[in-house]
Amino acid sequence: MRDGCEVRSARCAKSPRPGERAPGRSKGKTVKTIHDPSEVQRLCESFRGAGKTIGFVPTMGFLHEGHVSLMRRARAENDVLGVSIFVNPSQFGQGEDFESYPRDLQGDLMQVEGVGGDLVFAPPADSIYPRGFCTFVEVAELTEGLCGASRPGHFRGVATVVTKLFNLIRPHRAYFGQKDYQQSVVIRRLVADLNFDLNVVVLPTVREPNGLAMSSRNARLTPEQRKAALILYRSLRHSEDLVRTGETNAKVVRDELRAMIEAEPLARIDYVALCDPDTLLAVDRIEGPTLAALAVRFGSTRLIDNILITAP
Ligand code: AMP
Repeated sequence: MRDGCEVRSARCAKSPRPGERAPGRSKGKTVKTIHDPSEVQRLCESFRGAGKTIGFVPTMGFLHEGHVSLMRRARAENDVLGVSIFVNPSQFGQGEDFESYPRDLQGDLMQVEGVGGDLVFAPPADSIYPRGFCTFVEVAELTEGLCGASRPGHFRGVATVVTKLFNLIRPHRAYFGQKDYQQSVVIRRLVADLNFDLNVVVLPTVREPNGLAMSSRNARLTPEQRKAALILYRSLRHSEDLVRTGETNAKVVRDELRAMIEAEPLARIDYVALCDPDTLLAVDRIEGPTLAALAVRFGSTRLIDNILITAP
């Protein structure tokens, strides 16, 4: 390792777990792995200086097909593809799963290499939050409901780390998944409010063939919980069907959604909401585009999912 910068081939990574990870198809290109924030800043500055566009995919690692879809799009639209892998401690609350969050840097490098990525930024936590760190970014209002209500401080941690990453990488485009819908709305707001000179691209949720939204946390589900978790997408689809067949009362739709999930013994609802896709405020009537969003626990694993419903 030189100056916190390491150039390595990730091809020696261990094999993906069945059903969990996208197979990393090597394109024979090496991924530059950087741990040091000033090193990544210098490198990205040199890319910019050379007139190259940078596409950036921030992640917490344990990459799967959902992440791969973002990386592929970023690869296609930019000269340089940068991916960050950082399990951000400031977005986890007390008693949440920071310690047990799945990690596999070697496997992740293989995934990034498989899509032809150029660099992985994987900083140690104390380089992002050094001694004395006390500046945080708060996006108000949009973070009050949904996950913000059940995870106080979560979006403050997200907004802070994303701001730092944007300042280090200075991407032309940053890619996020609709799976974390509220996060994507918060990031768009942050970018607009703080005048970041970049485009936010939000891409659809990638699902397993059975409908389960891909998530790093799925790896922590038992086979029974994984099966039970299919109720999430099934119930969301059911709510869409209700609206398609003329139901406009949000309470009726929400109650049916809740009832379906409650009938699954392994599921414990955190929230089920029908809201405006821009303001994230709850709606009474489903008249325009509406976000159906939920967070449900299976054992100690909390999963989120959502769909955008369009009233006929
Ligand atoms: P995470 O590593 O979970 O923080 O996710 C990093 C990025 O990948 C976020 O923008 C997520 O919304 C996105 N993402 C996670 N899961 C999926 C998925 N199943 N489909 C599409 N994007 C996803």
